[in-house]
Amino acid sequence: MTSRAVVIGGGLHGLSTALHLARAGWPVTVLERRHVGRHSSGVNAGGVRRLGRDLREIALSQVAHEMWTNLPALVGDDGGFRPSGQVKVAESEADLAKLERREAEVRALGWSHEEVVDRAETRRLLPAVAPHVVGALVVRDDGAADPMRTVMAFRRAATEAGAVIEEGAGVVALERTGSGRLRVVTERGAWEAERVANCAGAWATVIAGMAGETIRCGVKSSMMIVTERLPRFVEPTVGSASRALSFKQTDTGTVLIGGGHQGRADLAAETAVVDFRNLAKAARIAAELFPLMRGVRIVRSWCGIEARTPDEIPVIGESTTCPGLVHSFGYSGHGFQLAPAAGAAVAEIMMRGTTNLPVAPFAPARLIETAAA
Ligand SMILES: Cc1cc2nc3c(=O)[nH]c(=O)nc-3n(C[C@H](O)[C@H](O)[C@H](O)COP(=O)(O)OP(=O)(O)OC[C@H]3O[C@@H](n4cnc5c(N)ncnc54)[C@H](O)[C@@H]3O)c2cc1C
Repeated sequence: MTSRAVVIGGGLHGLSTALHLARAGWPVTVLERRHVGRHSSGVNAGGVRRLGRDLREIALSQVAHEMWTNLPALVGDDGGFRPSGQVKVAESEADLAKLERREAEVRALGWSHEEVVDRAETRRLLPAVAPHVVGALVVRDDGAADPMRTVMAFRRAATEAGAVIEEGAGVVALERTGSGRLRVVTERGAWEAERVANCAGAWATVIAGMAGETIRCGVKSSMMIVTERLPRFVEPTVGSASRALSFKQTDTGTVLIGGGHQGRADLAAETAVVDFRNLAKAARIAAELFPLMRGVRIVRSWCGIEARTPDEIPVIGESTTCPGLVHSFGYSGHGFQLAPAAGAAVAEIMMRGTTNLPVAPFAPARLIETAAA
């Protein structure tokens, strides 16, 4: 089989890349080992957040924010995105000083989306927050979306634009053909292409390895809790300056609690298990910040798997060993928000060899493991 472009991985990044390729008129096939949205794109916390991003990610995150704000124009659905704000609370004067330094750092780069607010404004934004909270850093038009609804919207839009999605097509080898094309071998047939995107999430380093490239990258397996339904008490998504927390109430009244507490991933088995001791920490922080959470029942918990780079920013760019292969992985716990823009960048690199989108800090070369290393 042939396709001008092949995308490995049917997560949000693979689908976004395929959408942008197909809209530009490139025939593209997505090869997904299981089913679309099977891993982190389908199970994440849905945070659409610029707040607190690594400074090197802000420019791309701003582009993505514009796209989230106009998502119906891009994919015909808003993905459940609500710009209800993101708030990082200060639990002490030291926390507040840290948030003020951060705000100054971001402003010095010319960005003004992050804003420190005082105790009164924090209380106005979060009436149920604990009394010890002294202020916060906020991005008022950040927010949250529905992960699986977003994945399905990108899938639909990509398919309508002409992309072909093959599920149950796990890639097992990558070869160079005599004519210089790339041959992507799956368990059920091979595809030849001019360009290939590696959007295989936690398994992307395995794909890079098939191209003879060793990229330093580990695995992250963040856990989530969902509670029983509660009367509406919080609109924005909430984090803390000094503790790992992501906290939001969904439209149905359930509360989603995460923040990067780690379970245990098993890459070979393609699964991850919840570590209840770590999970209890997330629940405790939530109850300390929102006293009304004490005694609330946990309905379900789960754990996702994704790639985590040593510097916690993604790998986006052409392979250093295999021309025509473009990497997009290592989103390290915050790639949901970036996906609309990162997919556009990856598609451009595949089509034109370069992009004007701000992805230079993410070039793979910084993480290449050489024989001498
Ligand atoms: C619990 C949790 C909470 C999170 N919360 C947030 C948040 O609030 N905000 C935010 O911005 N980000 C968040 N993230 C991060 C975000 O979900 C990820 O960064 C993003 O979804 C990565 O998308 P992806 O397409 O790169 O990877 P994935 O969605 O993991 O997709 C990779 C796909 O590749 C497929 N694949 C792998 N190997 C092969 C192969 N050999 N052949 C074919 N297919 C293959 C897999 O089956 C998978 O479907 C969270 C992540 C988790 C786990």
